[in-house]
Amino acid sequence: MFENLSERLSGVFDRLTKQGALSEEDVKTALREVRVALLEADVSLPVARDFVKKVQEQATGQAVTKSVTPGQQVVKIVHDTLVDVLRGEGDPGALKIDNPPAPILMVGLQGSGKTTTTAKLAKRLKEREGKRVLMASLDTNRPAAMEQLAILGSQIGVDTLPIVKGEDPVAIAKRAKTQALLGGYDVYILDTAGRLHIDEELIQQAAQVRDVAQPRETLLVVDGLTGQDAVNVAAEFDDKIGVTGVVLTRMDGDGRGGAALSMRAVTGKPIRFVGLGEKTDALETFEPDRIAGRILGMGDIVALVEKAQETIEAEQAEKMMRRMVKGQFNMNDLKMQLEQMLKMGGMEGMMSMMPGMGKMAKQVEEAGFDDKIIRRQIALVQSMTKKERANPKLLQASRKKRIAKGAGLDVSDLNKLLKMHRQMGDMMKKMGKMGKGKMLKQAMK
Ligand code: GDP
Repeated sequence: MFENLSERLSGVFDRLTKQGALSEEDVKTALREVRVALLEADVSLPVARDFVKKVQEQATGQAVTKSVTPGQQVVKIVHDTLVDVLRGEGDPGALKIDNPPAPILMVGLQGSGKTTTTAKLAKRLKEREGKRVLMASLDTNRPAAMEQLAILGSQIGVDTLPIVKGEDPVAIAKRAKTQALLGGYDVYILDTAGRLHIDEELIQQAAQVRDVAQPRETLLVVDGLTGQDAVNVAAEFDDKIGVTGVVLTRMDGDGRGGAALSMRAVTGKPIRFVGLGEKTDALETFEPDRIAGRILGMGDIVALVEKAQETIEAEQAEKMMRRMVKGQFNMNDLKMQLEQMLKMGGMEGMMSMMPGMGKMAKQVEEAGFDDKIIRRQIALVQSMTKKERANPKLLQASRKKRIAKGAGLDVSDLNKLLKMHRQMGDMMKKMGKMGKGKMLKQAMK
């Protein structure tokens, strides 16, 4: 998995990390090479472009960390950006199967690995979560496919719905539901028919089954070796059927990995699992951290930079405190606060730990703050120039528009952020005036 991309990138970064001082030009050259490597790995052009842009923005805004070289720092930024690009929301392996019997619909093209993945998933649910699973093949065009599932079922010790000749897919789906209810199954997985290409009939059939089964999860199985095609297929399936996640198969092959990197950016759908072989236990949940690690192959450097950053974060925080009580709370400080919040389990978690902030924590909760919003706010600050970060009052309407657009958001989002910055600034000033002792007393009241 990712061998070629990994090799290309490590070449780029080996050169970069060997240099002591790094000029802007060095970083630019390296990033140009990163872009080429991504394109060669079949990552789509807009995604590759966006990736490099994100890295560049991060690199520009970041304070220099002592005790690591700028090159090492760039590696860390590339790593974090990779994780960000790969990450969906929530735990990829956590399927919505709480209300038994929960239907899971498997869709995808013929040969993508759908039937194999159905069995892998059933085995996983049975062995790791102790679920009683029923599998049903809806591939009425290919009797061999139905038998294949039955054979796999007996191999892994998972029941399959008995095959009834001449039944149509909708009828099979209904029978599976009844059987799952009567048989006390927790989950039933419907393995729909595949075609070589997406056509009207395939989509119609899948849509009919979907309407009857009302699946809790609709997992699209795509062949990871097909690169951007896999992404196009996913976009189309999602458009026509609606999917809740993607399973990328054949990631054990020497695929170029582009599909994995473009999937979420293009389709908005998270990769939930990857198939890593033909055997029924060759299924893993998709872990962005681990995948990014495999792609970059520079875990040591990433760990080193993390450690160094922790040290200077403490120093920075102290400096920030000093600036804040003087009423000098700028957008960089706000960004740092936001990043800290993400680390400490989100805004609510952090506010609840600070004395006297109970009320604000409530407001935060009401405003529907979550990690996603915090990430967006960080993106907004990142879209600002150095001067604007130091003094957000400089922001004119046209710049506001550009910044909001750059972060993929509305001006109203930016205005909210600026308001928050003002309020926090005011609060800091008050605290500064009160002095530490008084602040504590106030908090104890
Ligand atoms: P379907 O037509 O989509 O149901 O595809 P199948 O499940 O029949 O799989 C087609 C072929 O791909 C079979 O030979 C599988 O063993 C193989 N296959 C499925 N998933 C993987 C995988 O993750 N890695 C590898 N190497 N082969 C796989």
